[in-house]
Amino acid sequence: MWHDSGMPLTDQERTVFRTCPLCEATCGLEITVKGEKVLQIRGDRDDVFSKGFICPKGVMLKNLHEDPDRLRRPMILRNGEHIEVSWQEAWIEVERGLMGVINTHGRGSIGTYVGNPNAHNLAPLLYNRAWMQAIGSNQRFSASSVDQLPKQISSGYIFGTPTTIAIPDLDRTDYVLMLGANPYESNGSLCTAPDFPGRLQALRARGGKLVVVDPRRSRTAENADEWLAIRPSGDALFLAAIVHTIFESGRADVGDHVRSYIAGIELLPAAFQPFTPEGVAQATGIDALTIRRIARELCDAPTALVYGRIGTTTVSFGTTTSWLVDVVNTITGNLDKAGGVMFPLPATGGQNTRGEPGRGSGFRIGHSYSRVSNFPEAIGEFPAALMVQEIMVEGQGQIKAMITLAGNPVLSTPNGEAIDKAFESLEFMVSVDIYLNETTRHANVILPAPTHLERSHYDLIFSNFSVRNTANYSQAVFALGADQLDEWEILAKIAGIAQGAGADVDPTKVDEQIYESLLRKIIQDPTSTIYGRDLNQIQLQITETGNLGPERILDILVQTGPYGSAFGANENGITLQTLRNQPHGVDFGALQPRIPEVLRTPSGKVELAPKALIADLLRLEQVMHSFDVDELLLVGRRHLRSNNSWMHNIDALMKGKARCTLQMHPEDAARAGIVDNELARIVSRVGSVDAVVEVTQDIRPRVVSLPHGWGHGIAGTKMRIALKNAGVNSNILTDHDQMDPLSGNSVLNGIPVKIFALPQT
Ligand code: SF4
Repeated sequence: MWHDSGMPLTDQERTVFRTCPLCEATCGLEITVKGEKVLQIRGDRDDVFSKGFICPKGVMLKNLHEDPDRLRRPMILRNGEHIEVSWQEAWIEVERGLMGVINTHGRGSIGTYVGNPNAHNLAPLLYNRAWMQAIGSNQRFSASSVDQLPKQISSGYIFGTPTTIAIPDLDRTDYVLMLGANPYESNGSLCTAPDFPGRLQALRARGGKLVVVDPRRSRTAENADEWLAIRPSGDALFLAAIVHTIFESGRADVGDHVRSYIAGIELLPAAFQPFTPEGVAQATGIDALTIRRIARELCDAPTALVYGRIGTTTVSFGTTTSWLVDVVNTITGNLDKAGGVMFPLPATGGQNTRGEPGRGSGFRIGHSYSRVSNFPEAIGEFPAALMVQEIMVEGQGQIKAMITLAGNPVLSTPNGEAIDKAFESLEFMVSVDIYLNETTRHANVILPAPTHLERSHYDLIFSNFSVRNTANYSQAVFALGADQLDEWEILAKIAGIAQGAGADVDPTKVDEQIYESLLRKIIQDPTSTIYGRDLNQIQLQITETGNLGPERILDILVQTGPYGSAFGANENGITLQTLRNQPHGVDFGALQPRIPEVLRTPSGKVELAPKALIADLLRLEQVMHSFDVDELLLVGRRHLRSNNSWMHNIDALMKGKARCTLQMHPEDAARAGIVDNELARIVSRVGSVDAVVEVTQDIRPRVVSLPHGWGHGIAGTKMRIALKNAGVNSNILTDHDQMDPLSGNSVLNGIPVKIFALPQT
């Protein structure tokens, strides 16, 4: 047998290079294997982007691959128990269940949920649209609305598309104001930067400054020049006061490089008039002098940037805070400037490389509305927090079946107990997943995807958010076993079954349809580099490459992308083969200014004062004075050795001190009569959990912190290591009625709670 890298599967040792697919940092790995065994994983020192950096999770791809709890064969739920079956039996069951629900209740009764790992996985990124279109339902949900959706929506309004996000130019900046982000633990998000901590250290080493704004003294805050312990949810007010101060002091200047492309700036001084530093001081917990000083520092620094992440998006002002980050970057002259925030140019192109450069149809939400609460769609989906009502509230269009793809919403979406009960009530459920976990235990059929080492990899999404323009394609390390399906085949089969082609549908036929329709679309696009070319001639070239499945589609995207060969028209351009030949990646250099061509707004300008966001300032003004300083607020936290809910079954990552603890300030612990290391009850409007308390000075008084992604050990799951380190589910406390009204993103930070001491046993 031969491996698809062209290497024979012998017992000889070999070294392969691939990009780590576990987080947004996209580190290069050097993997030594012998036969079917992984001998060693370490950082690839020659990787053009990560240069050898690796975190403890990257090494664990070996453990994930070898995890005895990982599903290797399809499973069907029979008499309350999941049993292994053949693929043929599984597909017959998928057809029976899905078509049964479609024929009885209609296509709109099928819901879908796509989890976070899909953003790191080539096959779903290329095939999800096809199978979802084949299902024909608009009941779509994903982890986006418990994460970054507000940033995408604000960016859509400002720049014209939801993937046109202004990214910190970390390596050239002089000043970083960081809110709600902890890259020392998470390695960064919406800012792809391998060794993010090292890049921050380099900033400080060259005389720059790092200011971290966070209710907790996170590891990033510990390593900063300054920590500002803000009240949870205070970021929007804090940034609004900075905008106010910059206009008041006459320092607002967008810079000559973008001046003629900025619209709406004249509306801002009046809009931010109410948000004085003195006015927001109590609500933010940051005094007026400090706010004025930070505003001044941002203006004085030769280059500066504001970066906000999950703590700024998973709050009730998520979209407004995300907008304010860009407003501050723009009025301090740091938009689209080296050392400020810039726009990457990915090798596979994207929403801001297609169509007419510099102008587009803009962005809007509300192409459809949710059935029960009439909430607007955003970027093709509804808020995850609405899944429970869409499943439980009876009526036309009620969800009767779900398809979940690498997601665990029982642990990762608000009011986890309610979503658990909702899934229990479904008539049918299919999950594509590598584990029998808290969500997939409800599935009638579980289809096991290959492991990370059994599939090829290319970061289609994160190259849009990267601090440097690079491209890196990785071939699968191991060939698939004889009885395994590739993930694209699983997804193409689901599409074929939903089209009515039956359980025996050939996934390669569905793949042909997907590939052909993409190629036709690109050839018919007047702005494409292969516009008007002969379809047959290009298909002939594609056939000669031997690429099939995701590789065939990826090659088309690379060849027609900004650096691409355009199927021979650009002799210096790249193809997928170019990337195959360079296993350490290709470096296209530092980010370059892209305004105006990056814009896709109808005006062809940066819309700095979108109506929806200006209007939200009224709501923000209301909370400036109406808050309870004594209220105890719950926030989340990240740990370097954890990755949301799904890496808790790796023994080596679970070693050490228990991590699912409730962090609490000594003053609050004393007030509640709680001592360190004892169990306490945390109660919110929707639920309660018991957790061990960790008393610490590293958190602001009146704030408590519990990490998310825990709460394992529910009957019917099979994750034995996770069971031993179960922790508690923080989403039993988060409230599905609490959303950012502009995006539908769940509020996962700043949850009002009460804490009670428990009798010790
Ligand atoms: S930082 Fe992220 S990409 Fe890099 S090794 Fe760790 S998990 Fe993988």
